[in-house]
Amino acid sequence: MAHRPSVSDTTQKSENVMSTTVGFIGLGNMGMPMAEQLIRAGHTVQALDLSKALQEKAGELGATVVGSIAEAADGADMVITMLPAGQHVRSVYLDEGGLVETAAPGTLLIDSSTIDVDTSREVGAASVARGLEMIDAPVTGGVMAARIGKLNFIVGGTEASFARAAPYLEIMGGNLLYAGEQGSGIGVKICNNMSLGISMIAAAETLMLAKRLGLDLKRTYEIVTNASGQNWALSNYCPLPGLLDGVPSTNGYIPGFSGAMMRKDLRLSQDAALSVNATTPLAAHALAIFSHFCDSGHAETDYSGISKLIGGDAWDYEVDPSVLG
Ligand code: NAD
Repeated sequence: MAHRPSVSDTTQKSENVMSTTVGFIGLGNMGMPMAEQLIRAGHTVQALDLSKALQEKAGELGATVVGSIAEAADGADMVITMLPAGQHVRSVYLDEGGLVETAAPGTLLIDSSTIDVDTSREVGAASVARGLEMIDAPVTGGVMAARIGKLNFIVGGTEASFARAAPYLEIMGGNLLYAGEQGSGIGVKICNNMSLGISMIAAAETLMLAKRLGLDLKRTYEIVTNASGQNWALSNYCPLPGLLDGVPSTNGYIPGFSGAMMRKDLRLSQDAALSVNATTPLAAHALAIFSHFCDSGHAETDYSGISKLIGGDAWDYEVDPSVLG
């Protein structure tokens, strides 16, 4: 995986590219701050959402509010989509009046939504067949990262399309990671988040077992994070409070990255595994655990709050309060 150097400040970013017209479809929690970064960098953003209130907000931020996909794409060098799920992307790309039909040949289409690999490849192929360029560029990093232009983009597409998109993605992101041909960006993101979901449960189980054994949690944490049992979730996103500063577990489990988001990504991993006959039993179990977490009223709790669910040997929320702070 190639790794472009990150660009760290907005002034420097905005100098990288001439002002141009960008269509932006999907102005939700992520799309709005991403569009705002482009506006701030001096680009004309033709903004579209199903929500009138969000359209108005985009207008207040300086976007040109449009009423259709064709208008979002009209005269645009590129069109970015940031939509909830595969069905929305499929509709915006493939329906009558959609991007594939209405965008001018040569337009670069960038889908940053987190969706299934098959849909991404299908809309990519349909775009290319109409003379459009298309990359999948899903992001890691949540709303806070979007607000400060520090998202990580994992990009799938031709190297030429990647190079064309890069100056714009750099305005919204700290790191651009090239994953390979179109569809690879979303594929890599799904694999990554599958590993993350499993790792977070492993981190929570590790600490809860230590707690139940009466071990010194701080010492356990120091030793394990420096030994072979460490993983990213444990070392950088510790799911129990009081062990690592600046993470959601020390801030009431406010996301961050919600349980619902993790459930969605684990579902995508299982759809992908099924489509290619891959056996992923731990991810299947992780999905069941996060589904239970969400269905128990924690869909909007940070996903590291899974430690509240895992009591070492029982499913319960009656965890010793001295552990959870
Ligand atoms: P969101 O639901 O807040 O926003 C999606 C927006 O798309 C909504 O405003 C909706 O009205 C709009 N929309 C849906 N269909 C449309 C259509 N046909 N035309 C125009 N607009 C349409 O979602 P979000 O949190 O911004 O997430 C967007 C994507 O980014 C998702 O795929 C999500 O999985 C991914 N993602 C989110 C986060 C996060 O922390 N929120 C982090 C990483 C990735």
